[in-house]
Amino acid sequence: MTAPGALTGSSYQLRCIHCGTVGRADGSNLRCDECGNLLEVVFSDLKSRDSGTLKEIWLQRRTSYAPEDSSGVWRFRELLPNLDASHLPITLREGNTPLYELQRCAEAAGVERLLAKHQGMNPTGSFKDTGMTVAASFAHQAGFDWVACASTGNTSASMAAYAAYGGMRSLVLIPEGHITWGKLSQALDYGALTCQLKTDFDGCLKLLEQIVQRKRIYVLNSINPYRIEGQKTTAIELMEQLNWTAPDHIIVPGGNLGNSSAIGKALMEMKEAGLITSLPKLSIIQAEGANALVRTMRETGGKQLVPVQAETMATAIRIGNPASWKKAVRVLQATGGTVEEVSEVEIAIAKAEIGADGIGCEPASAVTLAGLKKLVDHGFVRRDERIVLILTGHVLKDPDFTIKFHRGDLFKDTEEIRIDRRPPIILDADPDAVLKALEQHERTAK
Ligand SMILES: *Cc1c(COP(=O)(O)O)cnc(C)c1O
Ligand SMILES: [Zn+2]
Repeated sequence: MTAPGALTGSSYQLRCIHCGTVGRADGSNLRCDECGNLLEVVFSDLKSRDSGTLKEIWLQRRTSYAPEDSSGVWRFRELLPNLDASHLPITLREGNTPLYELQRCAEAAGVERLLAKHQGMNPTGSFKDTGMTVAASFAHQAGFDWVACASTGNTSASMAAYAAYGGMRSLVLIPEGHITWGKLSQALDYGALTCQLKTDFDGCLKLLEQIVQRKRIYVLNSINPYRIEGQKTTAIELMEQLNWTAPDHIIVPGGNLGNSSAIGKALMEMKEAGLITSLPKLSIIQAEGANALVRTMRETGGKQLVPVQAETMATAIRIGNPASWKKAVRVLQATGGTVEEVSEVEIAIAKAEIGADGIGCEPASAVTLAGLKKLVDHGFVRRDERIVLILTGHVLKDPDFTIKFHRGDLFKDTEEIRIDRRPPIILDADPDAVLKALEQHERTAK
């Protein structure tokens, strides 16, 4: 058997998702030279892998302290592109995230059991780290001094951390006024050059693609195919946690649609490699105000992108022109999943419910539970299905939202919200006052 530390990644090509043209391997183009579509990593040798041996090696690496083994991404390097033998990955020990049982949320959604894989439990607090460790490592190997991204917040936090840890400089372009303090503060702390631009996320990404035409800078948005490769490990690790028995349904939030594409790609590759025998449905949930994929599916059957002017308090998915929409459509069609949209109130309620299970997440992650409720109502998901929500970001990313919700400052004008709000109570510093509040709580709260 291979030693746990050995780097044994797969041989691969970068190929256009539309016309199949092979891209340059040095990472200097992220779009097809022929037709401008995105590139993806394609492996030639998936079928030749012995799935039993892979499962054994991956599990065995959990007992190793070598950086590339204790990373929950590089642990699965047989399904990732190869770094040169002389190159070590830039890893902050991302991945290896918990799979939780959500009991009250299961009740709220009307299903028997509900699991959540919490990608907010990564080093910088979002799933972006799982992709960043791979893409940043390839940027470093290709000799880039500068890396850059357009971001709604979490990509910049993650990129800034991995760039700093790997000794590269980073440029962040963010939309002015629509980024949470938690995320912005991370980019500053990790030393990024941070530019707040008077435009939205889609405008920032467009600008970045122009900037990199003029200076040698490596783009670390999810249009980067190496990001997608790292983010695949969410699904690989999930199957390992489920003892390689695929669930019926996986539900993810959709913004720029890199994450849903990555998870879908992993599912299909695992099936091809014989690691799993059935393919779960993958469904994608968007905010009503940023529902480009929902409209794309409903109005064109996935043939033509319907961009929107994005508006939602779930800032991580406040994206109107999702770059990876074609990859996401392919995943929906291959797995038989669906798309759904949820309102701002539905997001806030779902977030508070996930919090009340002792887990917590940022608003964008909560669309998964809100969407599940609708899919159960419509009969698309059965009560007895095995369902996994992917929670994408940590609860501390956006404390403003949480506090405003519980204080009742978020939805002043909407009708009553049927959930316990849990505002802080201001009292005299007196044991009687506190005990009285406690007893009143016992009488009124469920
Ligand atoms: C980036 C992000 C998303 C959206 O992921 P996409 O890959 O852009 O679809 C959702 N939730 C959180 C917390 C994020 O950081
Ligand atoms: Zn092409």
